[in-house]
Amino acid sequence: MTSTDERINLLGLTPSRLRAWFAEMGEKPFRANQVLKWVHHRRVDDFDAMTDLAKSLREKLKEVAFIRPPEVVLDQQSADGTRKFLLDTGSGNSVEMVYIPEDDRATLCISSQVGCSLTCTFCSTGRQGFNRNLSTAEIVGQLWVAERLIEQRLPTGKAISNVVFMGMGEPLLNEQAVVDAAELFLDDYGYGLSKRRVTISTSGIVPAIDRLGERLPISLAISLHAPNDALRDELVPINEKYPLDVLMAACDRYAEVVPHGTILYEYVMIEGKNDSLAHADEMVELLGPRREAVKVNLIPFNPFEGSGYERSSRNRIMRFAKRLRDNGINTVARKTRGDDIDAACGQLAGQVTDRSRRQDRLAKMGLDRGVVEVTR
Ligand code: SAH
Ligand code: SF4
Repeated sequence: MTSTDERINLLGLTPSRLRAWFAEMGEKPFRANQVLKWVHHRRVDDFDAMTDLAKSLREKLKEVAFIRPPEVVLDQQSADGTRKFLLDTGSGNSVEMVYIPEDDRATLCISSQVGCSLTCTFCSTGRQGFNRNLSTAEIVGQLWVAERLIEQRLPTGKAISNVVFMGMGEPLLNEQAVVDAAELFLDDYGYGLSKRRVTISTSGIVPAIDRLGERLPISLAISLHAPNDALRDELVPINEKYPLDVLMAACDRYAEVVPHGTILYEYVMIEGKNDSLAHADEMVELLGPRREAVKVNLIPFNPFEGSGYERSSRNRIMRFAKRLRDNGINTVARKTRGDDIDAACGQLAGQVTDRSRRQDRLAKMGLDRGVVEVTR
């Protein structure tokens, strides 16, 4: 360990925590606000540039803190303007973040974990296993880096108008860090985004959905992907723990507290698996009674090597969408963006040294005791 490791990365401190920390150091809260503005509004990483702080405070901060986002190791641009960044997370691992510009907005798709411990069969992240949770600083650092690197600006002067937790990982299995990061995304001294414009996508971790509703009701997307338990158990195995009736009840509670009153349901279209009209009818049965609070996003399956699945044809997607719409369900068939650079949903691979499965394997062999960490 170097002394650097003992200092605090300011990117990971919520405004209230930074103010409390400043108070402990005998500094006034407005000093913390000044620092927040330097860090998140002007994206300064050098205390000497914070010219409205006393020199003595700057020197003190240098001793106890630093400002450092994850390092960008690859930056790829798609023909459609989508841009994929590979971020180093140490130990030979990396995560990905994707920038998706549209006419009047620009969305940043960020990661919350290195890999994922869940095993959805159609997702390449799920196939890779889990290494570790990202810290708040590593999550906030993604938006910080994007705002710093992307030249193209929206009329607001910002590069990014929307943030979605749809990159690698299950955000609600890294709850505290994700909620702290989201708090900074919303705070006026952070990134000033509205609750509508920050979305958590989850495979359905029910107790965490309820806690989010109480703590920070930002937009919620549910990875539904199947309209009945038998099929969802297969595609999204966490369904065995939180089956559809339990999940939908949590969604109904969440719809009551989220400002716009709707939940987004994501449904990946896999040829011959979940894309028939019978499946659409089951979707109508499931979502119809709550249609006022529902928006469905049909995502064409993005293939990856060895997935064993194929993308539904355009016709089947349109037919499925029409059946939902004809039954009053707000449905959008999402365009696939950035698939020429493997930046589309579920193609985010990064680099994951799987600890969980290695531990399982070692445990099976009776070799788990005493193993601290094995990296490649
Ligand atoms: N773990 C969270 C967020 C990350 S995945 C979740 O599951 O919701 C973001 C979205 O991409 C999810 O809806 C996920 O189901 C979808 N996805 C995963 N693999 C995909 C693939 N191969 N093609 C299309 N969408 C995929
Ligand atoms: Fe994890 Fe989401 Fe992929 Fe499922 S779809 S394996 S929850 S990242």
